[in-house]
Amino acid sequence: MAVINFDSQEFEGTYSYGGSDLGAVYTKKETTWKVWSPGALGIRLQLFTTGSDEEKGSRALGGYEMRPADKGVWQLTLKGDYAGVYYVYRIRHVDGVQETPDVYSKAVGVDGQRSMVVDLRSTDPEGWDSDCRVYCESATKAIVWETHIKDFSSSEESGMINKGKYLAFTEENTHLKDSTVISTGIAHIKEMGFTHVQLMPVYDYATVIEAKPNKEQYNWGYDPMHYNVPEGSYSTDPWHGEVRIREMKQMIQSLHKNGIGVIMDVVYNHTYESKDSWFHKTVPHYYHRLNQDGRFSNGSGCGNEIASERSMCRKYILDSVRYWAEEYHIDGFRFDLMGVLDVTTMNQIRAMLDSLPNGKQILMYGEPWAASGVVLRPGEQPADKRYVRRLDPRIGIFNDDTRDCIKGSVFRREDTGFINGNKTMDWKLKNSMMGWCGPQRTVRVPTQTVTYCSAHDNSTLWDKLTNTVDESLRDYDYPHPERLAANKMAAAIVMTSQGIPFLQSGEEFARTKYGDANSYRSDIQVNKLDWKRLRVFNDLTRYYQGLIKIRKHFSPFQDATEKSAQNMYFSYTKEQVVAYTLAGNPEDEWKMVAVIANAGRKPYEVELETWSYIEMPETWYVMANGEQAGLVPLKEIKDSKIEVPARSVMILAAPKA
Ligand code: CA
Repeated sequence: MAVINFDSQEFEGTYSYGGSDLGAVYTKKETTWKVWSPGALGIRLQLFTTGSDEEKGSRALGGYEMRPADKGVWQLTLKGDYAGVYYVYRIRHVDGVQETPDVYSKAVGVDGQRSMVVDLRSTDPEGWDSDCRVYCESATKAIVWETHIKDFSSSEESGMINKGKYLAFTEENTHLKDSTVISTGIAHIKEMGFTHVQLMPVYDYATVIEAKPNKEQYNWGYDPMHYNVPEGSYSTDPWHGEVRIREMKQMIQSLHKNGIGVIMDVVYNHTYESKDSWFHKTVPHYYHRLNQDGRFSNGSGCGNEIASERSMCRKYILDSVRYWAEEYHIDGFRFDLMGVLDVTTMNQIRAMLDSLPNGKQILMYGEPWAASGVVLRPGEQPADKRYVRRLDPRIGIFNDDTRDCIKGSVFRREDTGFINGNKTMDWKLKNSMMGWCGPQRTVRVPTQTVTYCSAHDNSTLWDKLTNTVDESLRDYDYPHPERLAANKMAAAIVMTSQGIPFLQSGEEFARTKYGDANSYRSDIQVNKLDWKRLRVFNDLTRYYQGLIKIRKHFSPFQDATEKSAQNMYFSYTKEQVVAYTLAGNPEDEWKMVAVIANAGRKPYEVELETWSYIEMPETWYVMANGEQAGLVPLKEIKDSKIEVPARSVMILAAPKA
């Protein structure tokens, strides 16, 4: 076929459609379908009673020619109530006919093969009108807990009934099997003080066959199929398009009711299929970047990359994010491989979200890297680490420098960081604690840095520690004292550092995948949250809980600006010891806080110091040591010389006089 220059000003000028009505727009009286496909020779809308031919009562309801309208849009209006009717487009291109569901689908049938017209209001659970996003003044006030719908509830001991489903998040007051005191599920999240749950992909993805719910299947879901539709396998009925929508809303409503925000993991960087993707079938070659040789470029490492810089692709991403924020009341977005997307698109998403009611509170952050080289149009910048300063200050990046400095590189199993014996990490750790916006400033403000040391990718923190601390004893279930000490140090560092604290679910009870460092399609037995570890690792869990209380109690820890980072005063210490003091704000109960991390094998005495214009406190309360953490002082010290035991973090607070 003739190659169209999609990047020419002529094309952009002629075919950039600005309407917000692409897809099937439903009312009880009529439905209007609009599809953007410049270059198509004709489009036929085909209607069906079901989402697949295999279902009972399946039959075709006829086809209708659409007519060309403005800017490459094709449209058709049918009178009558079409809710629950399934459809595909048959698009005639110069080189043949392609059949495809709607890229703007809001609902689909089983396995996403046909779109469905949906009456969205009929999918609202009771009380949805009054549901709203949680209050979050700035991203640095959040504490994000990342989980996967199936991991969350699937364990036999989870105490939840709706295993592997959205609805498990509607189960309150669940307990570990055979326990009346150990909370699981959302009760656990609340008890711990996590503010936001980040859900690994919940939009419709390809690799789990929804039509076979009884087959053992597992995938993380980074294989997007329909960006604006919930994944069907997490619903109780993937055959009826409205069910997954309602159940996902019920999940969100329940989390909101319990004061927990919902962050969606969005994977706009690629499509699971390339030439068979709905995008390619609808407008060949438009939505993906191509190499010089005309083949799909592969910045995502998954076979293709999205051309986010093209106007209608950018619009698609903006429309999609907006739809989730408005229709599903989503509290934040985590952009997978954000380095594949471009800076302008990301900043436009931020501006679009900011324009929504309370939209400034919606979190935005992403992975500031791609899997390999991206092929951006000249003049555009990728939203990766190099260009973070061009991103809006309220778009964060996962800070791999912080992550690797704490526990060692994710790419080398034996590599260590500050907590597991690396003696060269002190300088990096100081910068990590300052959220990389102290004197060494790689980001502008702490809202631009996600401070973390575990996520779904790579080894769990506990597995990393098992592989690097007393590594000859490779027992992932054993509560090894030295590993626990290192784990507590990691947690204390994250919770007392500037930035947006983030952790993989279960890090707080020594989550293990038994050494599996890439479990994206491993068995659920490897991936599930093993809630019974709450028993064995109770002490570690309580430690995290105490740290979260401390973080929330002291406003400079949660500073959205660079002020606190620059107010930190680091004492002179030997290697493997880092110590800082940080003065409180007028509203804080504590005049000053001191954090001392000693990763060495011996106790060490630190002389705490502060800026010359600030008075040093005479009395310190120990709020956390290597054993415990919380808001109850463990000890009082009337000295600025503090001895910190080996392999521990001490957090001290000076009361106001
Ligand atoms: Ca699916």
